[in-house]
Amino acid sequence: MLIETMPERAGHLEPANLPACERRTLPGVISQRACLLYGARWMLAAIRDAVHLIHGPVGCAYYSQTVRQKIYKVFSTDLGEKEIIFGGGEKLEEAIREAVSLFPRSSAVLVYTTCAAGLIGEDVEAICKQAAAALGLPVVPVNCPGFGGVSQGDGHDVAAAALLEHFIGRGSAGTPLENSVNILGEFDVQGDLKEIEQLLQRLGLNIICAVSGRATMENMARARRARLNIVHCGRTGRWLARRMEERFGIPWRKVSFFGLDATAAALQAIAAFFNRPEEAAWVEKEAEAARQRALPYLGRLAGKRVALFFGASRMGSMAGAFRELGMEVVLCGSQFGCQEDYTDSRRCLGRGTPLIDDAHQRELEEFWHRYRPDLLVGGTRERFVAHKIGLPFLVFPQETSPYAGFNGFVHLAREAAALVGAPVWRLSKNELLREEGEEKMAEYVRCVERGKKENGRSSL
Ligand code: SF4
Repeated sequence: MLIETMPERAGHLEPANLPACERRTLPGVISQRACLLYGARWMLAAIRDAVHLIHGPVGCAYYSQTVRQKIYKVFSTDLGEKEIIFGGGEKLEEAIREAVSLFPRSSAVLVYTTCAAGLIGEDVEAICKQAAAALGLPVVPVNCPGFGGVSQGDGHDVAAAALLEHFIGRGSAGTPLENSVNILGEFDVQGDLKEIEQLLQRLGLNIICAVSGRATMENMARARRARLNIVHCGRTGRWLARRMEERFGIPWRKVSFFGLDATAAALQAIAAFFNRPEEAAWVEKEAEAARQRALPYLGRLAGKRVALFFGASRMGSMAGAFRELGMEVVLCGSQFGCQEDYTDSRRCLGRGTPLIDDAHQRELEEFWHRYRPDLLVGGTRERFVAHKIGLPFLVFPQETSPYAGFNGFVHLAREAAALVGAPVWRLSKNELLREEGEEKMAEYVRCVERGKKENGRSSL
């Protein structure tokens, strides 16, 4: 047994096969998952020309205003006890009018439902229709009450369906635009999209719409005229690509721009689709140049052990990128991975690397204590536990620079090497106990005490 788990959770940690997934969290377990509303916000928050209105208590709006470490402007109907008993329809109508009057140049209103709105059970869709007719712009319900699904992954699907039905699907039909692509499931974290765009431009291609890192009402309406959909995020990107293929006949390719080999393979697959085999030469050259730039960092990372735990769609592709850095992936997991996500990861990692689904804090802590990876990669929630244990932690989606494309790989190598080699971890209690024994620990305690006296602080 890798670590001790509750009997009901046994199948969620798998060393050789696919873990059990897409199931509700065990009641009482402190899951790292988010709710359906947050999943929808993860997909839609970056749409700049829409008003985002959270129909629920103000706490839901506060929770969902920060997405990928960025604070977005949201409105809230601020539902209270009175509305939960007598209904919040009037408050919603008023809030839509007020938000549009404050931002009259908005192209649409997105109305997100929450647990409270779901419990009241009023007809949000009808209210949105009436408001749309009165205001003359799309007012779109995003039906995502927090309790309405297994995890935030279901919220991603609800959001993608809303985009397809109300914006992409209602766009103007027309002849396909030459040399044009959409990117589905790319959120432009710290400039990732710009890196990808520069590479596509060297292939002579233009991005019409990136869902949703660069999605506007105008470019979503043109998205159905693309020649190819490039899927960069697993589950939701694939879902959207399949629907767009069925409805508009747009073919799609699933690729990854994380890692040198994956980026080169992605560009070659796209070049092959557009029948431009001559582009392969510069792709190889760029990949090699990036490898040379990353070399000073690779020496420091070779043979180090890394554990990954974050959103589902990037699991497989990031596992590939870390292996290219010369690191051994000792755990790969996600809060809400689906079967396809774990199949991708297993294909990349082979049998033997444990895959874990919906791990709770105690399981992660036990794994990290027992296996002591040299680097942990995950979301902000896991960061503090890692720091308490005394392990280097890399936040992903990243907070600093792009990780996508050839340049992104060099950034990833530099940041991972800086973290793994940072001397600060030698000061952590666990590290001292493990490596230097009690003597060093006593020295550390003396040093802390001295610091307290000198700085007049009660603790470090
Ligand atoms: S779980 Fe429900 S109440 Fe909590 S933030 Fe999500 S929508 Fe709001």
